[in-house]
Amino acid sequence: MATFKAIVIDKAEAGQTVRLTDFDEKDLMEGDVTVRVEWSTVNYKDGLAVTGKAPVVRRFPMIAGVDFAGTVESSSHAAWKPGDKVILNGWGLGETHLGAYAEKARVKGDWLVKLPAGLTRAEAMAIGTAGYTAMLCVLAIEGQGMTPSMGPVVVTGAAGGVGSVAIALLAKAGWSVVASTGRAEEAEYLKELGAAEIIERASLSQPGKPLGKERWTAGVDSVGSLTLANVLAQTRYGGAVAACGLAGGMDLPTSVAPFILRGVRLVGVDSVNCPMPRRLEAWARLARDLDRAKLARMTQIVPFEKTFEIGAQILAGRVRGRIVVAIA
Ligand code: NDP
Repeated sequence: MATFKAIVIDKAEAGQTVRLTDFDEKDLMEGDVTVRVEWSTVNYKDGLAVTGKAPVVRRFPMIAGVDFAGTVESSSHAAWKPGDKVILNGWGLGETHLGAYAEKARVKGDWLVKLPAGLTRAEAMAIGTAGYTAMLCVLAIEGQGMTPSMGPVVVTGAAGGVGSVAIALLAKAGWSVVASTGRAEEAEYLKELGAAEIIERASLSQPGKPLGKERWTAGVDSVGSLTLANVLAQTRYGGAVAACGLAGGMDLPTSVAPFILRGVRLVGVDSVNCPMPRRLEAWARLARDLDRAKLARMTQIVPFEKTFEIGAQILAGRVRGRIVVAIA
């Protein structure tokens, strides 16, 4: 019997169980590429999965983990051969398809992205779904014709994974970045990443007016709820906001005022089912534009068995930047 280590989530009568255990290779799901997983990461969604706080997992037993970087072991897919270095984000990994917190994964070759030139596998996971989503948000606001000369951009959940990478990317592109954080002690960190101004999270998380003072031209929001409503209400005429997250709540208690009186655009960003051409564009831009020293500054590497602990911390908003998990 060939087994490998994996974090397995199962459903019992008493509730969800999660443990680091041996998994039998014959129980892997269908796929045309088998990958030796070397690195993974902990995203907010991984925190939800390993703690069972939200129904992220939709098949049991499930191997958790939505992101991996590794080396192809075997392949019957035309695009991949043994030895290829690959990454995978989303497509249901860790939700409907056995996931990344395992020494081995069997997946569809169509889901894989070639490790971009100039990035190591560990750096690709330091970026991970959070960083790749930050890039998708930057592409989304640029796609609305927004440029740094039009005014500042606000980033909410600034000290988190999406927020940290978004700040580094936007600063590099020439934007003046307003970073909203609940952690005043991270002000220096956020400035090092490129934030020009730090604002207190609480100033955006209380109920506000349908329209406020016009403060920024664009926004990257990973918080949702009242925070996103206030970001929209304070966006300048003709501005655009990319919404990707719900760290503050899934609701959106806003009015139509920003849309019909200021022509503000709200652009939704999804990373999981994002079409391949857009993924490749995002990864190429990340490889080209993301400052590696800033990436290292925002990243902490942890051993496999620490994944559970970090999963709980990320939901409590206590993780700064990005976490890389050393799988093998
Ligand atoms: P992190 O936990 O790393 O970052 C979230 C940040 O949001 C925290 O660091 C904190 O920043 C802030 N925050 C946390 N709780 C609250 C709260 N109650 N109210 C206001 N702000 C809060 O998570 P990620 O960066 O990995 O993910 C961020 C969000 O984006 C998540 O909701 C995640 O599900 C979503 N996401 C969506 C994707 C998509 O495809 N659409 C892909 C990736 C992520 P600070 O301390 O600076 O205030």
